[in-house]
Amino acid sequence: MSGAVRAYVGLGANLDDPAAHVRRALLELDRLPGTRLAAASPLYRSPPLGPADQPDYVNAVARLETVLEPLALLDALQALEATHGRVRGGERWGPRPLDLDLLLYGGAVIDTPRLTVPHPGLYERAFVLYPLADIEPQLVFPDGRSLAQALARCPGDGLRRLGQ
Ligand code: ATP
Ligand code: CA
Ligand code: CA
Ligand code: CA
Repeated sequence: MSGAVRAYVGLGANLDDPAAHVRRALLELDRLPGTRLAAASPLYRSPPLGPADQPDYVNAVARLETVLEPLALLDALQALEATHGRVRGGERWGPRPLDLDLLLYGGAVIDTPRLTVPHPGLYERAFVLYPLADIEPQLVFPDGRSLAQALARCPGDGLRRLGQ
């Protein structure tokens, strides 16, 4: 696809057979207009961020090639979350059947009310950094820091790779 941008999406789910939500979402990402799924990490299980009285998460990271503009991609991700039964307005970091975060959009740095890219949690979250390294170990962030450096400072935090 000419003019396509390489974008990374973090997937998370912790309700109603979370691994199934993540696997289905990977297929659905490939079907978004102007978009193809270029790579997907293995699935991981991670303890919840924020409120601890909720199930563990299943996480993965996807690399997309897309011609969608950043906000159009965010719209598409939020529409997908909704088709998985995600209801907005619960407590922050509360349980949800699907969460899709736009981690990186090419080398872009975006800071608007609806969209911050790179995603602010990117540099410190084990459930993002480890799966990202599975698909792109040599990745360099827009600010010039490397994924390898971020990983070296990030403990595994109870992250476990799921059997397929
Ligand atoms: P966190 O962003 O810390 O992982 P969360 O995923 O639980 O928390 P949400 O409730 O899913 O947060 O999203 C809150 C808002 O974040 C969304 O409405 C969206 O507009 C905004 N947002 C800003 N930057 C991004 C991004 N890079 N990816 C996804 N949403 C973003
Ligand atoms: Ca496609
Ligand atoms: Ca999130
Ligand atoms: Ca989110």
